[in-house]
Amino acid sequence: MAHIYDYAIIGSGLTGLSIAAALSRETKNIALIEAADVPFGVNRKVNFPTGPMNNGLRFVPDSVSAEKALRFLSNLINVEVVQDACEESPITYEGGNFKPFLGFGDTPPAFYEEFSYFTGSKRLNLAAEPFQWTQMLFEKFQGDFLPRSYVTKFHQEGERVSHITINGSKTLHAQNFIFAGTVKDLSLLLPEDAISIRARTKLAKNTYWTALCLDICHAKPVTDSTAMHVLNGTTQDEIGPCVGKFHAPVETEGETLQASQWMTFIEQEVTEDSEVVGMALKKIKRQIKRAYPEALDNLKLERIFVAPIIAGNGDIKLSANMTMPELENLWIASATVNDQKNLLGSLLQAEMIVASLGFKVEASEETSAPPEETLPEAAL
Ligand SMILES: Cc1cc2nc3c(=O)[nH]c(=O)nc-3n(C[C@H](O)[C@H](O)[C@H](O)COP(=O)(O)OP(=O)(O)OC[C@H]3O[C@@H](n4cnc5c(N)ncnc54)[C@H](O)[C@@H]3O)c2cc1C
Repeated sequence: MAHIYDYAIIGSGLTGLSIAAALSRETKNIALIEAADVPFGVNRKVNFPTGPMNNGLRFVPDSVSAEKALRFLSNLINVEVVQDACEESPITYEGGNFKPFLGFGDTPPAFYEEFSYFTGSKRLNLAAEPFQWTQMLFEKFQGDFLPRSYVTKFHQEGERVSHITINGSKTLHAQNFIFAGTVKDLSLLLPEDAISIRARTKLAKNTYWTALCLDICHAKPVTDSTAMHVLNGTTQDEIGPCVGKFHAPVETEGETLQASQWMTFIEQEVTEDSEVVGMALKKIKRQIKRAYPEALDNLKLERIFVAPIIAGNGDIKLSANMTMPELENLWIASATVNDQKNLLGSLLQAEMIVASLGFKVEASEETSAPPEETLPEAAL
């Protein structure tokens, strides 16, 4: 007889890992199913000449929902993740000078909603970065981790999901299924009767933005500004503005290096077109060079990362407890179904689902400061 898990969690990014860590306090009979070789999703560590960092630019606003989301995270990992809050306006380069960024006026970019998230003036400085959150969450997970396992279909029996297919052939049974992958994929994964043709088409056809990230290691310090930079050049073109910031300079092997991280958005459909990606990268670099003429001389390293990010409006109609209306044991956890389609949305959505499964996450020990040393890689 096939093994039946209490919970099958699909996707081991920040959302899936938060739920996996929370449910691990109740049972070890959990399958954490991941298409990639390793957990962590987009919030994973990148080794840079200046030290470990997030893969791509990150920003966490100082807001009431950030406080709630990060309290849930701290309770899960027993580590205080916020260092302090600060207020600093983003800056832009215009007419040969840096000035406070006051918005785009009458010509906002098409991805304004996604972009403007990074331009808030109140932010949290983190004591532990998102790539460390996912490592610590994975260390709290107690069930079976199934890497290289792509869920290809949900199967329905009455109003419940009975089992799922993995990699087109393997079957996995569970009492409850929690989907923490990309909502768009539900248009293919859900059984025929679980979603109307209209809703399925809407999910597949929505505009989804992809983050195009450029991480740079400069050969010498460029600036001591810690402000978020919004760079847009003098003309509006089909490739919009970019946003980015510099990290504190780091001394290593007799050199002082500085890292900076930049991001713009392109429509998911053109992501495959290497010409569009190339043009967007060139534009980012042109803007950096315009503001800091020597910043790109003798670069130590540059790294490009293309990541599907947030759906413009990829929502799917869910029941109040975050299950699919026609499938009472399938919870939808992806951040894109939350009002906040970001890190905070991941955590808030995870907290809501854990609560609707009947659990409340309290801090289990006294919350401590994050480890000073770089965290060890999770044992895989
Ligand atoms: C470059 C970038 C920068 C960002 N910056 C910020 C920021 O500054 N501030 C902020 O608040 N938010 C930011 N975000 C958004 C935030 O990181 C995400 O919204 C959120 O953390 C994503 O977590 P997740 O677990 O939902 O998804 P992911 O990290 O994408 O994880 C999903 C996982 O599910 C797996 N998976 C998917 N489908 C299947 C399947 N069918 N079977 C098995 N496994 C599957 C994937 O392989 C992946 O590992 C950023 C996102 C990106 C990409």
